Amino acid sequence: MSYESEMLKSLRMPVRSEVEKAILISLFKHNGIIKEFGIGEEIVDEIANYFGLTDEQRSAYLETIYRKENRLKKSNLWHRLLFRGADSLAKEELVSRPTETLRLTDKREWMLTEKGIDTVLKLLNIPGSKKEFLSTKSYEVQKIVKKLNRSKRPNVYNPIDKEKKTRKKLIESKMRKRGFRIAVIEAYNYKCALCGMKINSPDNLQWEVEAAHIVPHRLYGKDDIWNGLALCHLHHWAFDVGWFTLLDNYSVQISSKIDFLPHGLGKFGESDFLRSFVKTESKIFLPEEIETYPHKNSLNWHRENIFHQ
Ligand SMILES: [Zn+2]
Repeated sequence: MSYESEMLKSLRMPVRSEVEKAILISLFKHNGIIKEFGIGEEIVDEIANYFGLTDEQRSAYLETIYRKENRLKKSNLWHRLLFRGADSLAKEELVSRPTETLRLTDKREWMLTEKGIDTVLKLLNIPGSKKEFLSTKSYEVQKIVKKLNRSKRPNVYNPIDKEKKTRKKLIESKMRKRGFRIAVIEAYNYKCALCGMKINSPDNLQWEVEAAHIVPHRLYGKDDIWNGLALCHLHHWAFDVGWFTLLDNYSVQISSKIDFLPHGLGKFGESDFLRSFVKTESKIFLPEEIETYPHKNSLNWHRENIFHQ
């Protein structure tokens, strides 16, 4: 038995497979991303707390001698165990390595892959159908988000794509749909563009806000950030059925039919579900980057096809 394994055994450290499981669950709780393990990093303590490690277990050091330089090297046993766990997860392609993630996010982080998310969902008995609505990122989806955010805004833009999808394209388009959702809600800082509502679920795994397609998906609207808008559930519905639309200057136009709503409909107490959030001439809450604003061609389509029906 190696010196390290002896130490792990005598200190009753958790076994590697349990550490791997804990890393996956931790990643899931942190939306798919955790920092590289280093001294003083919260995540190192968080996973230690999960196992209820004692101070002795947390602070045990492994001493090795660098023969070449004839000096003593001390390394923290718990950090090594975490690193080995994550390393074998990377070999199984359940996480991306910090060196790979760095190229994508400019940060040295471990990140869940699509396969990793599927594995965690099984571990936690969460149905796969919920995946679409989770705010958990994967390495592959983050790649799509980056592409969506970086693409150059076209002057002439067609928000509709009627091309028939092959099977391969369908799988890709599922991921792209999640990429679209994350890119849009991130751009709007998780707020409804109309009312500004921002809230997530008590377990932090889901945001209330939705990524609405301006030209709807069922009518072949593209999964582009220029065809997207972050809206709360209520205002998403109101936009889809044409209770309001947006003008080219991003101000809100409310359907005149609202004046004819029967008494008692569309009210929050005294205030109404649209007008109470919209001041005359006021713009919606827009993303920080102008490049990611909805495209005029998408808005124009919505006015002509949904609003003026
Ligand atoms: Zn809203």
